[in-house]
Amino acid sequence: MGKARSLRGVHCRVCGFVSVPAQTFGCLQCGAHGDDLPVVELNPHGLLLAAVTVYQHPNSAIAAPLVIGSVHLSDGPVVRARLDGDLPAGVPVVAEVTGDDVVQFIADDSKEIA
Ligand SMILES: [Zn+2]
Repeated sequence: MGKARSLRGVHCRVCGFVSVPAQTFGCLQCGAHGDDLPVVELNPHGLLLAAVTVYQHPNSAIAAPLVIGSVHLSDGPVVRARLDGDLPAGVPVVAEVTGDDVVQFIADDSKEIA
């Protein structure tokens, strides 16, 4: 399987908050959990707000340096995820999910911001 351009999150039935990644242990805004957090498919396109290079990660299993970006998804939420290299703020990006279920954002050359 190759890399998919998709992004899954949860849409809280109680407060409407949308968050990434998909998880059922608790809404980041109101704490609702379980069946109140249905998984939703999000538009993987967004705009990069800011990027930072991490030189030492608390989890030694994660190789550093790596670049983390804040991305404003076109569906609304702002998410933090790994970037494919150092990209300038303001560029369109798109989520890419690797076979290991790791989400990273890459420069979006399709120019389609929905
Ligand atoms: Zn909630």
